Amino acid sequence: AKRGGRNRHFTFDPALIEQLEDRRAMESDLRRAVMREDFAVVYQPVMDTASGECTGAEALVRWNCSDRGDVPPSKFIPMAEELGLITRIGSQVLRRACIDAASWPDKVAVSVNVSPVQLMDPRLPQTVTQALEESGITPARLELEITETALLGNDEEALQMLKQISGMGVRISLDDFGTGYSSLSYLHRFPIDRIKIDRSFVAQLPDDPGSASIVRAIAQLGVSLDMRITAEGIETAAQHDFITKHGCSNMQGYLFSHPVPHTQICALFDSKAPR
Ligand code: C2E
Ligand code: CA
Ligand code: CA
Ligand code: CA
Repeated sequence: AKRGGRNRHFTFDPALIEQLEDRRAMESDLRRAVMREDFAVVYQPVMDTASGECTGAEALVRWNCSDRGDVPPSKFIPMAEELGLITRIGSQVLRRACIDAASWPDKVAVSVNVSPVQLMDPRLPQTVTQALEESGITPARLELEITETALLGNDEEALQMLKQISGMGVRISLDDFGTGYSSLSYLHRFPIDRIKIDRSFVAQLPDDPGSASIVRAIAQLGVSLDMRITAEGIETAAQHDFITKHGCSNMQGYLFSHPVPHTQICALFDSKAPR
């Protein structure tokens, strides 16, 4: 809207109106997708640095909308969070992931992303229990990935729920570490089993001294706090070498594999990391 002369009047930009209409249309498509459980889950392998074997996989949601084609999570997850739909999407992904993991080798864990909005829902522990019971996988094979943002505001409730879930034997990872309001006190207060070093640091390895120091420091933190460390977004052999030398326990990235459908991931469980 533009401000006019002395008598304020508004002229609406047609492009803006179109944008709002587009958004409305996408919201209603998203609601429909949630009702129909129209989401797919793909998996990106997590490699064990020491053995070079695939010992886990991260579940990533996909929405292939009949009218829009593939909509990236970066577009529809924030919308789902605003509309209060993320809890239902999240539990659909969690259930699917656990059922798929039930057919994998026992050494392969599955990790599932949990939105900060889901961490405010008191039914989360029950949703997790149900997904475990329904699939029959042991709690130790499930990992939930949370972000620092989730720990910021509502901490007391989130803390109690995470303790309950952790008490069941499910592991908790802190995703995108270093990008949010990182505070070392989270690592101490919350039952965190793993730190995932954000891709933005890994992307600048090995040449950028700042990123190199940060990655080294987080790896050392992992040793002293007895946490596992995953470096994500590994795309090059040079990044792989750096991470191997500096003691991160796990690696993920396009160098090993893009996220793939369930039917394809099983073939990767026997493969070794490239050297
Ligand atoms: P994330 O949890 O940090 O997931 C990693 C993202 O990086 C994925 O993007 C993955 O495909 C991408 N990636 C993996 N390796 C590489 C690499 O080597 N290079 C580059 N450039 N990218 C790599 P994706 O699947 O588009 O997901 C984006 C974000 O959407 C996720 O970031 C996560 O925050 C969110 N998301 C995805 N699935 C879910 C879900 O089921 N629930 C929730 N709450 N959020 C999800
Ligand atoms: Ca993640
Ligand atoms: Ca991440
Ligand atoms: Ca991310």
